[in-house]
Amino acid sequence: MNKIYDVTVTITPELPTWPGDPGVVLERVNKIEEGANANVSHLDIGVHTGTHVDAPVHFLPGEKGIESLDLEVLIGPALVVEIPEDAGQLTADVLAASGLDGDVKRVLFKTRNSRYWQEQSKEFHTDFIGITADGAEFLVKQGVKLVGIDYLSVAPYKKSRPTHEILLRAGVIALEGVDLSQVSPGTYQLYCLPLKLGGSDGAPARVVLLEA
Ligand SMILES: [Zn+2]
Repeated sequence: MNKIYDVTVTITPELPTWPGDPGVVLERVNKIEEGANANVSHLDIGVHTGTHVDAPVHFLPGEKGIESLDLEVLIGPALVVEIPEDAGQLTADVLAASGLDGDVKRVLFKTRNSRYWQEQSKEFHTDFIGITADGAEFLVKQGVKLVGIDYLSVAPYKKSRPTHEILLRAGVIALEGVDLSQVSPGTYQLYCLPLKLGGSDGAPARVVLLEA
């Protein structure tokens, strides 16, 4: 069996969430030790919590919800590309120099962001690496169908809309909040399965990479 890398962050009440988004409530409401028949927990989270996928309707009113994303894009070979520490935001120039070649359909960018997950940092960081608008255009032109990033947004902080609009309008699936700290650059088999939430603008996903 090839090695499986779980690149999903664990959802706990301590997990940092996007400023203004709901926090995480995960608590046991029925307890065996208190006489209940079974342990049962209550979960209350925003749909963009932790490792998650964005749907087109997140930024494009009237567009598709998360349940309609194509499983044939969510599952398949994916390239993990490591971005040098000092590269800065993922502009078209940075991406062109990153070794991304023409026939890559799914790409996950491993940046210095992954260290925040590795350190289990409890605060939300605003200085994370994201993809700029011209970087997003570059990816669309390359024919990329799924792009993953190792913090909570594909776009740099305070610059959400242009990057999301370009990607989502082109039908590119945005996977956010993966922890790539334990994964080396290279090709893997990606399994990305967002919860099937009807009409939702996003959904948490369990995401694993299977060594090729
Ligand atoms: Zn999102």
